[in-house]
Amino acid sequence: MSTLWLVATPIGNLGDLAPRASEVLAAVALVCCEDTRRTGKLLQHAGIRAERLAVCNEHTEFSRIDDVLNVLASGGDVAVVSDAGTPGISDPGERLVVAALDAGHVVSAVPGPAAATMAVTISGMPSSRYVYEGFLPRKGPERTTRLAEIASEHRTIVLYEAPHRIERTLADLLAACGADRLVSVSRELTKMHEETVRGTLGDIDIGEPRGEYVVVLGPVVVNTEPPDDASVTTSIRAALDDGMSTRDAAAAVATATGRRKREVYALAVAIGDTTPTSAAPAHTNGGPTNE
Ligand code: SAM
Repeated sequence: MSTLWLVATPIGNLGDLAPRASEVLAAVALVCCEDTRRTGKLLQHAGIRAERLAVCNEHTEFSRIDDVLNVLASGGDVAVVSDAGTPGISDPGERLVVAALDAGHVVSAVPGPAAATMAVTISGMPSSRYVYEGFLPRKGPERTTRLAEIASEHRTIVLYEAPHRIERTLADLLAACGADRLVSVSRELTKMHEETVRGTLGDIDIGEPRGEYVVVLGPVVVNTEPPDDASVTTSIRAALDDGMSTRDAAAAVATATGRRKREVYALAVAIGDTTPTSAAPAHTNGGPTNE
């Protein structure tokens, strides 16, 4: 059975081309690539004479499907590579995979470099759960909505960005997520001028934008501390002023704040004891019914 191979290639350092990537690229009947000159150079570096190269970029991937299926149907294997990194990750590949699977072919990969994976693992952010967002929508409501989703995201987030948009994107992230959100910005990964700057959105300084960027944003930090007595008392007073009974106010505030009902009730009773209207039956009609 024929196989469609997704072959990862270096994101900068040519030494990262895996031996198995070279073997597959040398063996397949067709190599689909974004740019024949660029991939030609990579193959030359690895000492590979590819059987046949075909352009498959974001504009031509769809129209390339028939060629690929024909090669696979005639018993030849096909490799897909992108300009850098893992095909299908913000690069062509996904549509060919679906077409090959639909036609009953084997789809496999030679795994390897991907800027997102490298950036997450060196960021210092939690890496057990992360979301890959790729490039943000450039403008309009799509961008606003995505930024709002990112602002409340409980997992680490990975974004790709071009040098001429990195400052704008960091400014938009600051506006959406606040100054305290942790961020790690990596550029030129695996290359001579590789650099990762870590900090918060409020204080990060990436200098003059240069090269390709990966932004790794920490998850939103939720304040899990229950509110103190003073703020619980304020909430109870507001509930009492709204006409609630002491018991109902205590129950509602306990539910809203996560504080124990018995404690909140005690605070509510204390308010009643110091308020002239505390004798009113509405504020003293029984204690908490559960914890
Ligand atoms: N398929 C690639 C991968 O697996 O990472 C991503 C391709 S996407 C078209 C290009 C983007 O990836 C760049 O704009 C940049 O955000 C990121 N990128 C690729 N190589 C990089 C590198 N060496 N350092 C930092 N970011 C890189």
